[in-house]
Amino acid sequence: MSTKNKYDVCIVGAGVAGASLAAYLGNAGLSVIIIERNLSERDVIVGELLQPGGVAELQHLGLDFFLHDIDAQPVKGYNIIFQGRSTLIKYPSGENYPPGYGFRNGKFLQNMRTFIQSLNNVEVVEGRVTSLIENDESITGVNFSVKNSDANHSVSAALTVVSDGPLSRFRSMLSNPAIKVSGYFLGIILEGCGLPEPAFGHLVIGPHPPFVMYPVNSNEIRILIDFPGEKPPKINDDLKNELISKFQEAIPVRMRKSFINSVKQGGFKMMPNHRLPASPVFKKGAVLIGDSLNMRHPLTGGGMTATFSDVRNLGSKLTAIDDFDVSKADKAVKSFYESRHLGNQTINILADGLYGVVKHPDLQEAFFEYVSRGGKYSAEPVAILAGLNKDKKLLQKHFLAVANYGTKLKIRNETGTRKIGASYSMMKEAVKIITPLLLTEKPDQATRILLKTLAK
Ligand SMILES: Cc1cc2nc3c(=O)[nH]c(=O)nc-3n(C[C@H](O)[C@H](O)[C@H](O)COP(=O)(O)OP(=O)(O)OC[C@H]3O[C@@H](n4cnc5c(N)ncnc54)[C@H](O)[C@@H]3O)c2cc1C
Repeated sequence: MSTKNKYDVCIVGAGVAGASLAAYLGNAGLSVIIIERNLSERDVIVGELLQPGGVAELQHLGLDFFLHDIDAQPVKGYNIIFQGRSTLIKYPSGENYPPGYGFRNGKFLQNMRTFIQSLNNVEVVEGRVTSLIENDESITGVNFSVKNSDANHSVSAALTVVSDGPLSRFRSMLSNPAIKVSGYFLGIILEGCGLPEPAFGHLVIGPHPPFVMYPVNSNEIRILIDFPGEKPPKINDDLKNELISKFQEAIPVRMRKSFINSVKQGGFKMMPNHRLPASPVFKKGAVLIGDSLNMRHPLTGGGMTATFSDVRNLGSKLTAIDDFDVSKADKAVKSFYESRHLGNQTINILADGLYGVVKHPDLQEAFFEYVSRGGKYSAEPVAILAGLNKDKKLLQKHFLAVANYGTKLKIRNETGTRKIGASYSMMKEAVKIITPLLLTEKPDQATRILLKTLAK
């Protein structure tokens, strides 16, 4: 390690957020130090489907080569399977619309890390940040230990970027985090069986908890299965039996054998699914990005797209500074905090909103029937899911229209007073799901009025 003492930017954590920001700032000539506790290739179940909007962000950043040479699989949309019926929904396509990609997160991240290690003005250190250094109400750098050494080091920078991920140790110094766990995703890999629609993500809903499936290389399919609740299930033989009995019927026939084999072999990985609305508290000399600032349900695979949107927003402001210094960086950070919701509010609202919908027996059916109508009923929602359309009003409109459509279907099927009860309860449930999501994403006056009206 040959660290100098003072950098333009010090980054805590070389995960998806930290490493991509280091690459962008390093490319622009800023002096950067990035400290990551484990630089070896990680084997995780997170961040394996990058939505087209995230690919577009990488293209804007000039970093889409991170997707090269990792056997990444193009993803063209979603196949939604509801109780054995399916509907195929394509992402917007054309010159300006890249596909999404499925890949192993560790390989994608190693591409980023290898690149930043090749830049002369970016110093990559394998070590653990132990504390942020605070002087006169400002963060001026970090203390850290280097891997396999007991010695403590410190480094100072005009700006310290905290991107230490979902279990962030430092977020409470820079935000008011109200973090919730809605459940757990259990991840398994299926080999050599293929998906019913090979180049599509699959969302499977029904009487069982929802699960998603997508290709992560030319031979492997990732399945993420939802386990609702605050506590994770215990990994043992009972869990294996439960997985087979509860889910095998819902797994497409061609994948069933591979599913059962994979479950019997075990080797599961589990991750908590958090919701963390961004609530930054500005502090001189520091900024939070990535999962340490903001998280949403991973059902829609929006986390990295939101992260790259933040990296572009913050990165473009920092690289526009002449003679980088603390006060100019602080100004950029304030502007980033003010504007970042425009890039990721629809991703956040849709992620937890759709999770609420697909868990609900009536709303999941309403959603399936609604998008199965095709045309704008599927094209517009999937463009929002893709992170290509960020029109919040359009999202609100479709969300409530799903409940409205479901109500109509119920009325058709129910009789007498049950009709009124059924329709009322579905709309009430939809409003209950979306209201807190809209309220945490800087709602404008019109949205507040709409929510008040709906609450009546
Ligand atoms: C189950 C699940 C599935 C998901 N699937 C998808 C998906 O398909 N698509 C998608 O877009 N998003 C997905 N996400 C979300 C996505 O993974 C995250 O949004 C994204 O990885 C956030 O990147 P990050 O850099 O903030 O965190 P991370 O990528 O976790 O990086 C944080 C880094 O900080 C390092 N670190 C932590 N503490 C220290 C310290 N003290 N010192 C030094 N280093 C430290 C860690 O080692 C790590 O490398 C999923 C999330 C979950 C939970």
